[in-house]
Amino acid sequence: MTVGAPSIAPRVDVLGVPVARLSFEQLLRRLDEALRAERERPDYYTYVNAYCATLAARESPYRASVSRADVVYADGIGVVWAARLLGGPCPERINVGPIELGRIVDLCAERGASVFLLGGAPGIADEVARRLVAERPGLRIAGVHHGYFAPEEEAAVVRQINGSGAALLIVGLGPPKQELWVSQHLAALQVRATWCMGGLLDQVAGAVAYPPEWVRRSHVQWLYRLAVEPRRLWRRYLLGIPEFIGRVVHQRLRPERQA
Ligand code: UDP
Repeated sequence: MTVGAPSIAPRVDVLGVPVARLSFEQLLRRLDEALRAERERPDYYTYVNAYCATLAARESPYRASVSRADVVYADGIGVVWAARLLGGPCPERINVGPIELGRIVDLCAERGASVFLLGGAPGIADEVARRLVAERPGLRIAGVHHGYFAPEEEAAVVRQINGSGAALLIVGLGPPKQELWVSQHLAALQVRATWCMGGLLDQVAGAVAYPPEWVRRSHVQWLYRLAVEPRRLWRRYLLGIPEFIGRVVHQRLRPERQA
């Protein structure tokens, strides 16, 4: 039986992106519902932080692909503050790290729902699968695929995902690629839910250091990541954060001019 689309969480517009005002527990409950219901298309979740929001403000195809998500959550205290300034309460920052990923796959194991991991350099998703299953033998990984495929291989990747029987597709291609990819293939994907997770697979595989819990809780995770990968990330943070603040202030002062 096909069940109607689930209700939409209250949202607030941050630089043109509809940010959901919900907690991680609420999102897990929504995933739980999605895993059990047969719907016309997968439930689609992704995140925005200050970097993603400025990227979305600048690049309309990315903004459209993020806005298609059923849940866009605030993955960064900057977006939580911006949401509060622009529209009302946003319960918390949702940062999906190894602990939260554990909760997500525990839920899948409990529901008998298998998981497909897409993204990262060759070998990364395999290593994540090995580690997750070693910790919870009840979990079924339906398949894995690296994230460096050519456009002409995309149809085969979608076929592999659909043929695997996975219920949850975890996509770690990094923004904007992951949202553009999911948005493009959403109608063809025969999974119950798809969740964009950026560089988390690298961290869970041990290829990139993951910040200690106190760093995560003190909201300076971006500084830690900058120290770990300065060449890749300096532009994102050192130029991106001031731009984000400027754009949010501008939206607050002149909401009608916002994209
Ligand atoms: N990635 C990929 N295919 C690509 C480009 C990137 O699989 O064509 C992966 C890359 O290996 C890394 C992740 O995407 O695992 C990058 O995510 P990023 O750190 O930018 O995302 P964040 O977590 O910061 O949102």
